Amino acid sequence: MDVKRIREDFPILKREIKGNKLVYLDNAATTQKPSQVINAIKDYYENYNSNIHRGIHKMSEEATIAYEEAHKKVSKFIGSKFEETIFTKGTTESLNLLASILKNKIKRGDEIVLTQMEHHSNIVPWQQLAKEKGAKIKYIEVNSDGTLKTEQFSQIITSKTKIVSAVHMSNVLGTINQIKELGKIAHENKSLFIIDAAQSIPHMTVDVKKINCDFLAFSAHKMLGPTGIGGLYGKKELLEELPPFQTGGDMIRQVTFKEAVWNDLPWKYEAGTPNIAGGIGFGAAIDYLKKIGLENIQEHEEKLIRKTFKTLERINGVEIYGPRINRGAVFSFNIKGIHSHDLASLLDDYGIAVRAGHHCAMPLMQTMNIHSSVRASFYLYNTEEEVEKLAEGLKKASKIFA
Ligand code: PLP
Repeated sequence: MDVKRIREDFPILKREIKGNKLVYLDNAATTQKPSQVINAIKDYYENYNSNIHRGIHKMSEEATIAYEEAHKKVSKFIGSKFEETIFTKGTTESLNLLASILKNKIKRGDEIVLTQMEHHSNIVPWQQLAKEKGAKIKYIEVNSDGTLKTEQFSQIITSKTKIVSAVHMSNVLGTINQIKELGKIAHENKSLFIIDAAQSIPHMTVDVKKINCDFLAFSAHKMLGPTGIGGLYGKKELLEELPPFQTGGDMIRQVTFKEAVWNDLPWKYEAGTPNIAGGIGFGAAIDYLKKIGLENIQEHEEKLIRKTFKTLERINGVEIYGPRINRGAVFSFNIKGIHSHDLASLLDDYGIAVRAGHHCAMPLMQTMNIHSSVRASFYLYNTEEEVEKLAEGLKKASKIFA
């Protein structure tokens, strides 16, 4: 994989921050966009901006084809049928949508199983649902090395469990969870199985049929696409049986003064004018990722993971959280005696963009006994030289705060 060549596709990487070349290591929050994605959105607005599914005119037909093509690309990318992939605003909306349409499947005394390493978006919607229905939430615990206590899968999931919802790859620890095993135990107990794939889909092949999940949520902006668009996969028979999320235009086939008949999938779950430009941009991001090849991206990131461990571990007082193997290129760490916000702010002075805080995983932070951490997260355009720059920045910061 020619990283130097890839970097040329990302205009923003030429930016300077405070007189330094930008080192962008905040990819778990959002990724940068290649010209191919930016141009696809620009092309839509400049040349065929129209509403979809409604107009007879030429531009509306072009917009409809482009938006539907994007659906085809995204659904194929995750190994689903066309009808099974809905466009949403992103992972958060996908999970809220599920908590809403699954409401009637939950009754008092039922249990929802999550893990301790969930992002807030895979905790709070279930807490709300559990409160409303009198259900109980149980959490699979995290070991000190940042892996899940897999022995708890079969202890916590029982016939009372109606929903198991778990993150594929942790946005804090980088842990890649054993979701196939988790899903198997969920299904043996007749529970639905949901995956938050926000951090995994951008970096590895995720095939919904091979994993055998019932639903899977993801965001375009974490995989080179635009913000405000993402996806929800759902098994066809479930999406057909469940009620719509929102109602109104486009999600209906027929409406009378008395009632309405829902549209075919996936449109049943896409009420109103969707994010057409975003959808088209998402399709362009998929094209780009496929052109580079996820296996090449993964191989490149493995190199960055090895380099990061080797380089950061040499710095005095650094503690890196999360496992050494079966992990993605997301590194959360602290340097003893220095607040994560101070570290991140100093790194910014050197042009290095990292994140500091609780990373929308406050409960996980509590189990780790920390308030916050610095997070450096890598993607296909990052280099080993940038890992070294991060280490240099951290060393300088350590001296300043010593
Ligand atoms: N789940 C995980 C694991 C995440 O990392 C994120 C975002 O950081 C989300 C869910 C929420 O994604 P979004 O903000 O795109 O809805």
